[in-house]
Amino acid sequence: MTIPFRILMAAFLLAGNLLHAEYLTVRAQRGDGIYSMLRRYHLVEYGCNIDEFKRINGLSHSSNLFEGRRYQLPVEVYHYDGKSIRTTTGRDDWDRAIAIRDYNEWMLTARLREGSYQEEEILYLPYHIDHCSGFSSEEVVAEIPALGENEAVNEAIDRLKDERADRDPIPVPEQVTLVAPRTFAIFGDDYAEVPLLDNKLAGKIYYIVSGHGGPDPGAVGRRGGYQLAEDEYAYDVALRLCRNILQHGGTAYMIVRDENDGIRDQQFLRPDKDETVWGGASLPRNQKMRLFQRSDIINALYRENFEKGIVDQTMIAVHVDSRHRGQRIDVFLYYPEGDIVGKVKAERIQKAIKTQYETVRPGRGYEGSVSPRDLHMLRETIPSGVYIELANIANTSDQQRIINPRNRQLLADWLLLGLLD
Ligand SMILES: [Zn+2]
Repeated sequence: MTIPFRILMAAFLLAGNLLHAEYLTVRAQRGDGIYSMLRRYHLVEYGCNIDEFKRINGLSHSSNLFEGRRYQLPVEVYHYDGKSIRTTTGRDDWDRAIAIRDYNEWMLTARLREGSYQEEEILYLPYHIDHCSGFSSEEVVAEIPALGENEAVNEAIDRLKDERADRDPIPVPEQVTLVAPRTFAIFGDDYAEVPLLDNKLAGKIYYIVSGHGGPDPGAVGRRGGYQLAEDEYAYDVALRLCRNILQHGGTAYMIVRDENDGIRDQQFLRPDKDETVWGGASLPRNQKMRLFQRSDIINALYRENFEKGIVDQTMIAVHVDSRHRGQRIDVFLYYPEGDIVGKVKAERIQKAIKTQYETVRPGRGYEGSVSPRDLHMLRETIPSGVYIELANIANTSDQQRIINPRNRQLLADWLLLGLLD
């Protein structure tokens, strides 16, 4: 049997068309990682985009990107035919066309392109629209199918889990329950009961990570005969912030945990090494593993919550800095390089603190900065993040901010105001 030449040619051209779609390439900015680059293009929410990005660029799990180097995004570039998105991309699917249009228009608003797709005659087709099941054209939400209903989503999650198998297994326990009784043992006997004051943070998720812990005390300051360990003070403020969030109906995960510490109303917090992470595992000695352990947990929880349709998720890392003894510093913040959402979140917190100082201590002034920074917890976590430095643990005057339990509560309260905004 011979196949007519015309049909053969048509089949060949069609195949050619599909195979030769180009990917959008972009330059990595300083400090870019896989997540921050994909986040900038609104692609990080879909597991299949992350897998495809790694595949087309030949990257492994935790690759840093090289500043200035070009990478291919999982976004196909089409020449817009001037007629319709459906004819341009060769598929007569209305919802799909709307989703593609929305993405292209969003790119324009986000200034990721200079003109509209009609003006530039360039149409971008993000990979997830055809390849991540569960994608809904409504921004990113609502009708994402539950786990188990959806093969591709499960596969993506399994792949993600496989990639981690060479490190620690990631337990993903039940979410913090928000139904009565609102009792959380982690806050300790005096604070375990958490009344619900209002629902201002309903639908929002926070991953609260206090810096260091376990074998790593972080920075160590001295006062009187006492050692001030960064991890203990960061933990106490983080715990108070977590409780504040729960009081306003938000969901908060304490990622680093100390089951027998609770919120402590003492000046000198005894340094210990028995912290664990969400899920119960202890903290590895190796620093890189310790950091990946917590970012992996956050990413696993992020996926689980995202599958349930919750998009508003934030990582908050709490630290105490260490500088020269003579240097006073105000609470300051970092956000992931290139992450506009993280920047806005950090600026809100900064503004809340500034406003509080102006009210409580007029004339004091507040110099806390907000700046981008390439840090593991900002680069390797999928949700946007803010990284807070509370004080200089070596400075006698700054120490007051963290050793006085009332001040630690105040810090947590002011941080909360930055989230309520
Ligand atoms: Zn630290």
